Amino acid sequence: MNALPRPALLGGPPVRPEGPPSWPFPDPAIEEALTAACRSGAWGQYHGGLVERLEATLAEQHQVAHALTCGSGTFAVELALRALKVGPGDEVILSAYDYPGNFLTIHALGAIPVLIDVAPHNWNLAPEHIEAAWSPATRVLLVSHLHGGVVPMRAVMECAARLGLKVLEDAAQCPGARVEGRRAGTWGDVGVLSFGGSKLLSAGRGGALLTRQTAIYQRARVVQHRGNLVCPLSELQAAVLLPQLAQLDARNAWRHAQVEQLRQLLADLPGIRLLRNLAADSEPAYYKVGFQLDVETFGLARARLVAAARAEGIALDEGFRALHVGRSPSRFRRGGPLNEAERAHHGTLILHHPILLLAPEEVAQVALALRKIYTHRQELQVPSAKED
Ligand SMILES: *Cc1c(COP(=O)(O)O)cnc(C)c1O
Repeated sequence: MNALPRPALLGGPPVRPEGPPSWPFPDPAIEEALTAACRSGAWGQYHGGLVERLEATLAEQHQVAHALTCGSGTFAVELALRALKVGPGDEVILSAYDYPGNFLTIHALGAIPVLIDVAPHNWNLAPEHIEAAWSPATRVLLVSHLHGGVVPMRAVMECAARLGLKVLEDAAQCPGARVEGRRAGTWGDVGVLSFGGSKLLSAGRGGALLTRQTAIYQRARVVQHRGNLVCPLSELQAAVLLPQLAQLDARNAWRHAQVEQLRQLLADLPGIRLLRNLAADSEPAYYKVGFQLDVETFGLARARLVAAARAEGIALDEGFRALHVGRSPSRFRRGGPLNEAERAHHGTLILHHPILLLAPEEVAQVALALRKIYTHRQELQVPSAKED
């Protein structure tokens, strides 16, 4: 271990001098789709047929009756909540460690976020905390699969049925993932995908809503139209998404194998480990690869670890800030103790996905960088003169 060179943050040679790969990758299939959209004139039309084809393909791939595309994943969450008739004074239960935009969207509808704790093994929503958080005002469970974590949806659905709640499943980070034998986003009453610029399926912007229920689909359409069509997806966005859908399963399988390799390479490194999933018959998708950092055991503050990893050319970041931290208690209700979410707040690290599509040797660089940082954790504790 001591043979490892000095960390790049302290002036040594970086593991990846070229830095993290940028996303999206060049793709001949996408160029071809754009050229075809150009030739057919679809690029400049309201109804060129591509959005329609994308919605049909999404519905088919997910085995649901309806897919509705729109301008962003965030707007899809709003449409879904409105279609579930969430309004002022209603409560929506979600994990205290979740995408901050979801919290804001609930607020935007005048509803009240009710925060519950996460599971110790993957820092995603823990269904066993739902029941204690319930009140007569509770309407919806908003469930996100985050950072390669999978929420056991069978337990969520059983609980929702018992309490008479609707379920919104946020699959923005895991399109195509399998959760207990089904595609992510198809367990709940309605599911949501994102096609944002950094996501696994990307059109720069965009989102979609998935549902088996015609009434929900119709309500979402009415909200999206409001007399005028509000925030639609364009034909050009649909054009670039269609070839990505065709590649999705193969790419997810490749990414999954790479993450399992990374898990093995890091197995003996103290204080840091990948999120683990206990749900059977599941294969996550990795928009981010989530790690649990135990700062005491690893021996280096999270911010320093992130700075050191980035200096090595690895796209590592701190995770979300937990939703109950730094917010006025008047803006949400605590659905129970949030001890594990507190740990997730301090200890989540996320690796951005593009490197996962490269060769196994390049993913091994992530492990190498973390090992180097661990070996030199003591010198890394204080900023050195070499840092600019
Ligand atoms: C990115 C994301 C969204 C929102 O998607 P946008 O298309 O960026 O608006 C929603 N939920 C989760 C979990 C996300 O990661």
